[in-house]
Amino acid sequence: MRITFPHMGTSWIAFKTLVEGMGHEVVLPPPPTKRTLDLGTKYSPEFACLPFKVLLGTYLEALKLGADTIISSGGVGPCRAGYYTQLQGRILKEQLGYDVRVITFEPPRGHLMQTYRIIRDLVKVSFPKFAACAWLAWQKLLALDALERESHRVRPLELEKGTTSRILSQGIKAIDRADSVKEVKNVTAAFLKRFKEMPKDYDYQPLKVGVIGEIYVVLEPFVNLDVVETLGHMGVYVNRSIFLTNWVTENTLLDTFRVEAERSAKKAAGPYLPELVGGHGQTSIGETVLYAKRGFDGVVQLAPFTCIPEIVAKSIMPRVSKELDIPVLTLMLDEQTGKAGIATRLEAFVDLLRMRRNRMARTRGETA
Ligand code: SF4
Repeated sequence: MRITFPHMGTSWIAFKTLVEGMGHEVVLPPPPTKRTLDLGTKYSPEFACLPFKVLLGTYLEALKLGADTIISSGGVGPCRAGYYTQLQGRILKEQLGYDVRVITFEPPRGHLMQTYRIIRDLVKVSFPKFAACAWLAWQKLLALDALERESHRVRPLELEKGTTSRILSQGIKAIDRADSVKEVKNVTAAFLKRFKEMPKDYDYQPLKVGVIGEIYVVLEPFVNLDVVETLGHMGVYVNRSIFLTNWVTENTLLDTFRVEAERSAKKAAGPYLPELVGGHGQTSIGETVLYAKRGFDGVVQLAPFTCIPEIVAKSIMPRVSKELDIPVLTLMLDEQTGKAGIATRLEAFVDLLRMRRNRMARTRGETA
């Protein structure tokens, strides 16, 4: 099979290792561009949310590159994500005439046998060989997350703008090239060292901002218009609430065995939103509560236009913000959103946070 999958941040590196390890050819999904979005929008229903359109565009580009199979994830609960791969499959096959197989991985809890059967049909190599590749793919995911996390920490401190992004991009390429767990670990250590040694302003105390929202828009920089990097260049330490390794651990491994994650955002959301509203609506509220408790200066919520779970969260956010005294900026993203407009709104938000921090420092000084 010639398999493709969604492009979501840097995760394609691990998925490539995994799919190749199963014994298939990978057709890499091209990084999304304006053209991808235009293509997806053209064939999507009007009501579809942004991730649907970008993914449909990505699949069309990958099919043109020769893919014959798409692997994607499904979903349960009140969000329409659960229908998306089926709908995308029908558009590609019935409306556009592609001969393509669409394979959907549902969350393993409640679908264990189905997941097992899909994996059994997909794996064309011996089990030990597949297990070794799956382990290498997981190590790559861990390494990518480690480098990204560190880049968020050091970017606001960099003395020469762009150093962090340059090191990160070289690190990502090196992890992609690594073909053993040992090499992945060596590469990770080498690039973490480079972050440590790059020239920094150690006296600078950056503002701390949490980034929350729907997983695809949080993880894919094209869709969120590089919010994390832009904030970092404004001198802000960004804590992204979602990393793929945490998400996989909490929502597939722990969830399958009904183990609640220790720092559960769902628990923290309880007083404000005790019900599951689909997508990441409930965790967006919970993460905001947790950021407030951890003393963060503010939160940026990333929400695809028409995303019901994030709209529900947005409607509750003013109460959370007021009661826990944490400013929240919601950015609704759609195909009309431009990078300059987002940068302007972020700049205004960061100014507000700086003024708030200075005012609080003065108040503390006066009362001391
Ligand atoms: S969570 Fe929101 S953006 Fe994602 S599929 Fe559901 S409605 Fe669409």
